[in-house]
Amino acid sequence: MLTVTLPQTDIAQESAPRRKIVIAVDGPAASGKGTLARKIAERLGYAYLDTGALYRAVALAVLEIGGDPSDIEDARPAIDIVLRNMTLELLASPALRQPEVSAAASKVAALPEVRKALLAFQRDFAENQPADVGGAVLDGRDIGTVVCPDADVKFFVTAKAEERARRRFLELKRRHPQLTQETVLEDMLQRDRRDSGRAIAPAQPAEDAYLLDTTDLSPEAVLDAAIATVRGKLVAATDAVK
Ligand code: C5P
Repeated sequence: MLTVTLPQTDIAQESAPRRKIVIAVDGPAASGKGTLARKIAERLGYAYLDTGALYRAVALAVLEIGGDPSDIEDARPAIDIVLRNMTLELLASPALRQPEVSAAASKVAALPEVRKALLAFQRDFAENQPADVGGAVLDGRDIGTVVCPDADVKFFVTAKAEERARRRFLELKRRHPQLTQETVLEDMLQRDRRDSGRAIAPAQPAEDAYLLDTTDLSPEAVLDAAIATVRGKLVAATDAVK
């Protein structure tokens, strides 16, 4: 009988789980980052996490208990509620999209204890997908800089403020007829300032992020450009290790 002895290194490589791909998509409100991230995930069969929904969920819980979203004493029980009850379905709830929740989300997001509590969940999502899922796409403000600084591909999605306000107004106007495009723009700029001006994990592009300005592009054109970048980056990375 012939026995074949495989070199130890080959066995180790074969049984080692393949590293998952992580794609970070950051950018300001209504820049198109959420649509892009979701579509990249759909196209590549990856898992998708809208990290803004986590901050929105904490904010909604604070508002529901009548608390102040800038006060950590009020946010602390809300973090607990969210971490204990969170499911991907809950994170997709339309209740999280209300304008007062958007404003409150950027207030709780400036509290270091809130960010720290949500960080572990986000990293776990990025790193621990089932064997048959090739990777994860996360969108937010600090994915490429803080949550997943080693992400394989990073995008920072922007668009002119007026165009972002136009898009957000179209999304909101049916449920919130009292809004005008001007008030949406004002609220958005205020939120942008809070997000990029805060001391901890300010919203800013990672040094190695690809900038995508979506002002004059259709969602399909943005997706095609992003997928071409992802493929180019991953092929270059594979060639580099050959
Ligand atoms: O992305 P979205 O607009 O839903 O995020 C709501 C708020 O959550 C943002 O204005 C920001 O303050 C906060 N956020 C954050 N870091 C993330 C995602 C969202 O600070 N990674």
